[in-house]
Amino acid sequence: MTEQRVGRIVKVSGPVVLAEGMTGSRMYDVVRVGSLNLIGEIVELRGDLASIQVYEETTGIGPGEPVLDTGAPLSVELGPGLIESIYDGIQRPLNVLVGIEGAFMSRGSTVPGLNREKKWHFTPTVGNGTQVAPGDIIGQVQETSLMVHKIMVPPGIKGKLIQIDDGDFTVDQPVAKCVGEDGTEYVITMLQRWPVRLARPILGRLTPSRILRTGQRVIDTFFPITKGGTACVPGPFGSGKTVVQHQLAKWVDADVVVYVGCGERGNEMTDVLTEFPELKDPRSGRPLMERSVLIANTSNMPVAAREASVYTGITIAEYFRDMGYVVALMCDSTSRWAEAMREISTRLEEMPAEEGYPAYLAARIASFYERAGLVDCFGKPQRQGAVSIIGAVSPPGGDLSDSVVQATLHVVKVFWSLKGELAYQRHFPAIDWLTSYSFYKQYLRDAFEDKDQGEQMEQLTVEAMALLEQEAQLREIVRLVGAEALSGQDRLALETARSIREDYLHQNAFHPVDTYTSMEKQFEMLKTVMHFHKQALAAIEAGVDPAELFKLPVRERIARAKYIPQDQIDRIRQIRTQIDTEVAALRHAALTR
Ligand code: ADP
Repeated sequence: MTEQRVGRIVKVSGPVVLAEGMTGSRMYDVVRVGSLNLIGEIVELRGDLASIQVYEETTGIGPGEPVLDTGAPLSVELGPGLIESIYDGIQRPLNVLVGIEGAFMSRGSTVPGLNREKKWHFTPTVGNGTQVAPGDIIGQVQETSLMVHKIMVPPGIKGKLIQIDDGDFTVDQPVAKCVGEDGTEYVITMLQRWPVRLARPILGRLTPSRILRTGQRVIDTFFPITKGGTACVPGPFGSGKTVVQHQLAKWVDADVVVYVGCGERGNEMTDVLTEFPELKDPRSGRPLMERSVLIANTSNMPVAAREASVYTGITIAEYFRDMGYVVALMCDSTSRWAEAMREISTRLEEMPAEEGYPAYLAARIASFYERAGLVDCFGKPQRQGAVSIIGAVSPPGGDLSDSVVQATLHVVKVFWSLKGELAYQRHFPAIDWLTSYSFYKQYLRDAFEDKDQGEQMEQLTVEAMALLEQEAQLREIVRLVGAEALSGQDRLALETARSIREDYLHQNAFHPVDTYTSMEKQFEMLKTVMHFHKQALAAIEAGVDPAELFKLPVRERIARAKYIPQDQIDRIRQIRTQIDTEVAALRHAALTR
């Protein structure tokens, strides 16, 4: 806190407070409001009048009470201790606050984001005499069994290291010292601060061309997301949104998961607070929290905190990216964030645009997703990091023409369209293959170690998708004139499309094997489904009755391929041999009839 100025409250309007005597204050300065010391942020300045959005319930404060300007923008604390934390929208640790102050935190609480007592073992990775600058990695801390926290030189420090120590330190104790060219001595701790509304610096952006594997077949095969990519998933109630998000949190090949819960009702958030910490990292068997940070808005926090939580989340995600990690940020739901913006905007009496949202809605949404990306990180040693953003949207009534959905679709590169109807038919994940899309599809081939496999997979996905589209058209014909009107080829197309849907796209999150499918297994499975199609097509053209083909015993094996464990993939290849044998027998029988 650099300087402090005091103003007076003139008016309180829900989460927005108007204060006078604020000359010299800057936009986005953090202020303490009223005798309760509520935390707020200046969002509008007119003369000596400041409009302040307050992050806490404003009942009980009134005109005349003081407003203190801290002179600093809303910032987060970054350092060891972030992992496993559960924060509110302005980085107050909920687990700590709940412990100290009972189930609900009292207003005006100030508990720092990072624990000041806990000691971490700092191991230097550079020696004395090294020239260092902001962003350089100088050491590391084994934060959890899943996470090595790289310690980077904070902004504003540049010089030659004159001391660096191996040992146990709290986040605010010096681990190193350096002198600048002008002789200034700097102390380096493991704690740094960063203003949340400002993207952390990078050296350059790269095209996000590496697939972020999720192990979910419909996603990886048909609608992949990349390391540094952006995706949007609408979540009508009961469509399996929570299961999808949990599956992603568990299985994505990211080093860190940041989960921002922007729930409206308190109980939505309680679900996250109770369910997420129960999840296990499937690869190590350790709690998923050992590589996660959770940001949750509780029911007693007003809308402004929701607005801030998205920025708090992305800033923490960028910080881990800067260590050279792949980070997956999930935000549920960005609609609640947009509604918070709308409410604040209304209180500020701004001119509303569509559906009452402020005119800057689209710009805000865009600037949030723009903070995703694959980047060359700032500082030495040279490294790359990535932040992928997966934003859930929950439009009223599932209406995709909603302003938030539309603004989001303009900027994201992947759309997983969750359909209530599919969930109703118990087709999970309920991602609609006809309306979803991914602009990263061209990178699928590179997700395979074997180049030939990658090329084949690309071809297979095109053929499979064509069949799914054909199915939609054929169904219409069947509805009008009946199945008898269809040719043998068309009947096969329907049958294969059904097989793609049921044997491939349908994936049970709760089955120990089916819950995750490696890229290689996805390839073998899809290849097998399509192999049957090709062999059957040739047989039909040679005069085999389609009904005979659909009854072949191998069909059952194709359907059960998803349950074949990863280390027995060979058994999927054997199914193709069985297809050849059984189809050949039918062709032979047709010839000799
Ligand atoms: P939402 O969060 O959209 O309201 P949920 O994620 O809670 O919906 O899903 C509702 C139910 O659907 C779950 O309890 C589960 O039974 C089922 N379900 C969803 N996704 C899957 C899946 N991938 N595999 C199996 N069952 C699923």
